[in-house]
Amino acid sequence: MANNDFETVVIGGGAAGIAAAHHLSRAGVKCLIVEARSRLGGRAWTIPGPSGSALDLGCGWLHSADRNPWVAIAGEQRRTIDKTPPPWRRRSVADGFPEGQQRQFLEAQEQFFSRVSERAQKEPDVPAAALFEPDCRWNNLINAVGTYISGAELEYVSARDFDNFDDTGVNWRIVEGYGATIAACGAKLPAAFDCSVLRIDHSGKHLRIETTQGTIAADQAIVTLPSSILAEAETLFAPALPEKTRAAQGLPLGLTDKLFMSLERAEEFEKDSRVFGAIDRTATAAYHFRPFGRPLIEAFFGGKLAAKLEKDGERAFFDFAVGELTELLGNAFAKRVDLIHVSRWGLDPLSRGSYSYALPGMADCRTILAAPVDDRLFFAGEACSTHDFSTAHGGWITGVAAANQVIGVRTNAQSQEAT
Ligand SMILES: Cc1cc2nc3c(=O)[nH]c(=O)nc-3n(C[C@H](O)[C@H](O)[C@H](O)COP(=O)(O)OP(=O)(O)OC[C@H]3O[C@@H](n4cnc5c(N)ncnc54)[C@H](O)[C@@H]3O)c2cc1C
Repeated sequence: MANNDFETVVIGGGAAGIAAAHHLSRAGVKCLIVEARSRLGGRAWTIPGPSGSALDLGCGWLHSADRNPWVAIAGEQRRTIDKTPPPWRRRSVADGFPEGQQRQFLEAQEQFFSRVSERAQKEPDVPAAALFEPDCRWNNLINAVGTYISGAELEYVSARDFDNFDDTGVNWRIVEGYGATIAACGAKLPAAFDCSVLRIDHSGKHLRIETTQGTIAADQAIVTLPSSILAEAETLFAPALPEKTRAAQGLPLGLTDKLFMSLERAEEFEKDSRVFGAIDRTATAAYHFRPFGRPLIEAFFGGKLAAKLEKDGERAFFDFAVGELTELLGNAFAKRVDLIHVSRWGLDPLSRGSYSYALPGMADCRTILAAPVDDRLFFAGEACSTHDFSTAHGGWITGVAAANQVIGVRTNAQSQEAT
């Protein structure tokens, strides 16, 4: 072992950092997670809800569940996997959205996705919204769904990147919480909490990682910070790494927030059903009724709407939701719901958003961000994934990939020392 504090420091203890440290520890590499929060998980975060339920404020869906590594980890932890098909793959509640119109919308959405796919690899890359069919009545609603998928209106999103996302269409959930599962996976790993990395000095023989709790020396570092933070932290690396800053700037974090509300006489609604607040505008929320059959509504807000409501305060999400739902279901509905919790990921200084999308022309930034520097600075995190970005399994896969790069470099160095 080198004459320093740690062989490898993993910066950030979210899905990617946990995956990297887990993999390194198994390979016998002495590593440390350095995490600014007082908990693991980052954008994966489960909090207790009413009657012992678990509420995921960040990731909730095991997307591409048939190839998602967190499924096996949840199994090892003896978690309960719920395989009910997600609301977006089922008929919505008919109030305000008759079935015939739902079919028209789904067809228009499918055609839009096909146009994006056809155009995706052609030059130049365009904003996904450029592929809306002119004057189609469903464009606003397709754009609303775009804000839940990308966290931004499709005017801002690269068509190529949007199409690069690979989803097998199998979506499951963990009853005890996705965030709780991810945090538990890292529970036994060595970690320093409430410890913010201020600077990564890679000018000398060893890396010097300056933190709020002092300087740590290491052979390698795996940086898993959200792209929103890397985009603004021009002085994080010394010497500076402008190509990383630029790549991160091409991959902003879009904004999606969740509001949980209690629901009286919930049985009147189908389990795991969905209602759009409105079908003719983009600034609308999607309401997931009775998730897991619980007497709750989980509402999703994306893009500019989420940003505005974050500024207006926690209560603004609830008031907006009640306004939309009473419009659809009658004034008396207001008495049946109450605020439980709301997320505000854009105001969280350690996330500054929810998940990454690429600006038009910037899809390649994911590969640039993921590339190692001098075989000792490695990068992981959902934004580094070319096909599983914006997800917790993308975080895991990039974390393991970066750990494998570290192991490869260390093995090479050891065999050179031996000869
Ligand atoms: C509302 C919402 C819904 C979502 N839904 C889903 C879903 O259904 N399915 C899905 O797969 N994904 C979903 N996601 C996305 C998923 O949660 C993320 O893609 C994933 O958790 C990102 O993991 P990460 O390790 O790349 O980043 P992070 O989790 O952000 O980890 C980075 C870590 O770095 C830490 N950090 C920041 N600055 C510093 C510093 N200076 N020093 C030290 N540490 C620092 C942060 O505290 C954080 O813990 C959702 C996210 C949100 C917000």
